[in-house]
Amino acid sequence: MPEVLSLNEAMLNEAAMTRSSRPMLSTATHLSTVALEKFYRKGPLKIPVLRGVEISVRKGEFLSIVGQSGSGKSTLLHVMGLLDSPSVGEVLLDGDRIDDLPQQTRDEIRNRVFGFVFQFYHLLPELNVLENVLTPLMIRHSFLSYWRRRNEFREQACEILEKVGLTHRLKHKPSELSGGEMQRAAIARALVAKPEVLLADEPTGNLDSGTGQEIMGLMRSLNEEEGLTIVMVTHDEQLARTAHRMVRLNEGRLEILSGAA
Ligand code: ADP
Ligand code: MG
Repeated sequence: MPEVLSLNEAMLNEAAMTRSSRPMLSTATHLSTVALEKFYRKGPLKIPVLRGVEISVRKGEFLSIVGQSGSGKSTLLHVMGLLDSPSVGEVLLDGDRIDDLPQQTRDEIRNRVFGFVFQFYHLLPELNVLENVLTPLMIRHSFLSYWRRRNEFREQACEILEKVGLTHRLKHKPSELSGGEMQRAAIARALVAKPEVLLADEPTGNLDSGTGQEIMGLMRSLNEEEGLTIVMVTHDEQLARTAHRMVRLNEGRLEILSGAA
């Protein structure tokens, strides 16, 4: 039986084949949504934000989502990462539905599979860079287990801090860092527990364009070298274009804009 490809898959194949300078992407779908709808209620009114979003993100793909402010980009990212639930439709990880699982299972999947990066970093001001990066590991383990493995975790944190270029800032507090350094620290924190998918919401939105390009370059190298799947939301189309694929959210629906960098 010939394999029947959905429109989404056919577009992805074309995107993968037109990329010349980078290795071929895996054909396996990593994270996807089916007929995703999200509406908010305001009194008797139902305000639609997502109106049937279908997206497939491949393993190791770097996908960017652009769209005007208020178009639902953050909402989509939150639903894909189990920070929020869809009103209608499904979210699938490796082909299995994950949005309808019991809350505790959803929390476990979110913590294990997804790393999040936000526009305003959300670092804890009282902690230094190394301590901030260690927080996901502290939260994940019991006090005793964390204490026993503290040297291993410290090494793990230092390793990722080296990858993001912050080895010289381990003991600095967030207030002593530049915007770009704070975002590097936030990326290290998102990656320290080795997630499969990085979800980044306007990660360059608070940075000047040069620093924004540096952060984008860092994410691209993490994607290429670690095979990390990345979904990035941004309103900067110039940056978005350097991902494998760029889609636009417009009035709650997705349009494919480009398939190749
Ligand atoms: P974007 O990230 O593209 O700027 P958002 O996903 O933040 O857009 O928001 C999309 C729309 O949904 C906006 O009109 C916003 O006001 C509305 N919205 C977002 N979150 C809520 C909420 N919790 N309650 C009601 N409306 C919301
Ligand atoms: Mg937003």
